Amino acid sequence: MTDHGNRRYVVTGAASGIGAATASVLAEAGATVIAGDLRWEDAEVTAVGEIERVVLDVADPSAWRALAEDLGASGHSLDGLVNAAGITTRARLHDVESTDFEAAFAVNAAGPAFGIQALAPLMRRGGSIVNIGSAAGSTAHYGVAYGASKWALRGITKTAAMELGTRGIRVNLVSPGYIETPMTASAPVAFREASNDSTPLGRTGRPREVAEVVAHLLSPAASFVTGAEIAVDGGLTGHGGGLGTARAMGSALPLA
Ligand code: NAD
Repeated sequence: MTDHGNRRYVVTGAASGIGAATASVLAEAGATVIAGDLRWEDAEVTAVGEIERVVLDVADPSAWRALAEDLGASGHSLDGLVNAAGITTRARLHDVESTDFEAAFAVNAAGPAFGIQALAPLMRRGGSIVNIGSAAGSTAHYGVAYGASKWALRGITKTAAMELGTRGIRVNLVSPGYIETPMTASAPVAFREASNDSTPLGRTGRPREVAEVVAHLLSPAASFVTGAEIAVDGGLTGHGGGLGTARAMGSALPLA
């Protein structure tokens, strides 16, 4: 595990799922984590370590500014930001409404952009920002507003990487496939089965499997990686549709 001692990170969506796992992994590695979420009742963060919980609505630019003021007043430099807060909307193209787009874009796309705008100035010694995208951001996805918001986040990530590179701030996207969290627990069973069927590793992922990749990108071990998109999806997007053909052609390489 990379040492994150003497480092300070803000992690959003940290009360649940991937954000909670990320906050835990970082705190266990010695970091101080400022963990933001809408509410903290029933939070999943269990790590032993420095986790300071704050109430934050990522869709509200004034909330980001207030957080930046608080952190700035403490006099500490910030080393990174993980934008893991997210919401899903499952309306299909035939019944999607403007409110689906507004909600998905406000939290999943504009939220990370406002977070970067507010907190990058506090990364005085350089830094690393990781946005949590989705396999839905590089494929056709049945929930059209959610998928579109994750496609948008890819563009925001690349713009931020371009704008902040000269200040030594790296910005990358981690795109999970199907991960077992409260978000997917509410999905139709058919979605889980179809995802497993399209995933070469043949299973769903765990929040910690995403968090470990995020922690690596935050660390100096990834010092020349920026503007990149890293899939953590069991191969779901990597086969680009070839899996069905390969299966139709028969068995794969035998074991020795
Ligand atoms: P989750 O529902 O378990 O956790 C999301 C957290 O974000 C919750 O604690 C929620 O309160 C918080 N949140 C929502 N709106 C917020 C707001 N406006 N301000 C602050 N916090 C807010 O979901 P998860 O599965 O852990 O998802 C985390 C991220 O990973 C999301 O961006 C999601 O789109 C993405 N993702 C998840 C999966 C998956 O299979 N679980 C796959 C791909 C991408």
